[in-house]
Amino acid sequence: MHVQLVNGAPLDVSGARRPWLCYAIRTAGPGHVDGHADAHPAVASRFGLGPRLLTLVLSSALFALPAAASAQAADPPTIVIVGASVVNLDGGPAVTNAAVIIAGDRIVTIGPAASTAIPQGAEVIRANGRWIVPGLMNMHTHYGLVLPGRQGAELAGESEAALALRMAANARMSLMSGVTTTRSTGESRGADYALRRAIARGEVVGPRIFTAGETLNVTGGHGWGIGEEGLDSPEALRRAVRRRAFDGAEWIKIAISGGIADTHGDIAASHMTREEVAAVTDMAHRHGMKVTAHSGSPGATLEAIEAGLDCVEHGYFLTDEVLTRMADKGVWLVPTIVVAQRTVMEFFKKIGSPDWYLDRVASVGESHFTMLRSAIKHKVRIALGTDQFPYEPNDKTTATIREAQYYVEAGMTPLQALRSATIETATMLGIEDRAGSVQQGKLADLIITDADPSKDITALRGIKLVMKGGVVYRNELAREPR
Ligand SMILES: [Zn+2]
Repeated sequence: MHVQLVNGAPLDVSGARRPWLCYAIRTAGPGHVDGHADAHPAVASRFGLGPRLLTLVLSSALFALPAAASAQAADPPTIVIVGASVVNLDGGPAVTNAAVIIAGDRIVTIGPAASTAIPQGAEVIRANGRWIVPGLMNMHTHYGLVLPGRQGAELAGESEAALALRMAANARMSLMSGVTTTRSTGESRGADYALRRAIARGEVVGPRIFTAGETLNVTGGHGWGIGEEGLDSPEALRRAVRRRAFDGAEWIKIAISGGIADTHGDIAASHMTREEVAAVTDMAHRHGMKVTAHSGSPGATLEAIEAGLDCVEHGYFLTDEVLTRMADKGVWLVPTIVVAQRTVMEFFKKIGSPDWYLDRVASVGESHFTMLRSAIKHKVRIALGTDQFPYEPNDKTTATIREAQYYVEAGMTPLQALRSATIETATMLGIEDRAGSVQQGKLADLIITDADPSKDITALRGIKLVMKGGVVYRNELAREPR
């Protein structure tokens, strides 16, 4: 079984007026990819399910073990981590010198090492003096990221197969960097759905993926490409939301203002009407999906909040009025602060970003950071996201960890920043009952660090082990069988 990718217009990154989504991904337009047409009916008939039910099954499969481990469900492998402290996300005392027993994909026991019996045959990981921390979550990713400049030119004409393989490599690196869950906020040609399925089946190593599929673009708006059909009416937008629900997206992403990577126009311009945004939120909510918006515009954001928006990406120029409204209505902010701050310049140099692009980055940096500071002060709910590969090197660490560090620099306590990268994010995704913290009964998605990141966020720079769903993917600690 495979996912058939059809009608693959190559990524054209050479155009002088190349529009970019967020600061990167171009959508392929609606109807390019059909996951169901090839892959789903085969599975659906095998399990006697209709496509929608199947989607639900596949969604829950995101929380299953990789195939190799799930085959042993009757006698799940047991791992015990001994000697580390378990970070407490509620701010209370940590469980020190703990024994954390993991059976299959779940944490089954957390207790003092001195009095917790280690099951016979369990694999023991000794982590004396270290810290067990929930796996990190990154809510703004594009595994197929392409940016203007030299790197973008090299990827011109990338085939669908090459895109899927590149995305798989980026997903693998992301997991290895300690990020166990991500949300895709704009991918193309259905490769995100294929990647999500491949990871869930254990064919590819990567984080748990939630996706918004392709971003919904209006003609001439952020992320729209010349020659593409814009979604220029409530009706067209409703149809696009229905299609993404069918494809299996958990989120809908809209672009309601300009962006850094647009070659023209004001970043704070407002691209969609209130009726258009309302059509999207209404249809998405009917399908149990949430809606997030790329936005740098205060006016567009305020209007979209009134129209039922759930989440705002970037928020470069948001005012206190908008942030207060977001806090009142429980609208989430995914800051992606790291894309416009000084430590990102090395990255832009590396990929050969053109001057116009660097100028646009520079034009938002200060305002973006001021906005983040205000958002924290106004108690807006914040979920960590980077708009860069989660593992992208930044300031001698990764974009994900530098993002969390910027949150502290903007006014969060280390504990708040850690929560934004874990339990807060899980809450935004609606999976806080099974992910986002190291607790009995939850999925064993965790990392081990040398120090306590709830006291000093830079402790995340020292990750020694990464586990997802009870499977160790990276381990720099000495391991010994019992
Ligand atoms: Zn983005």
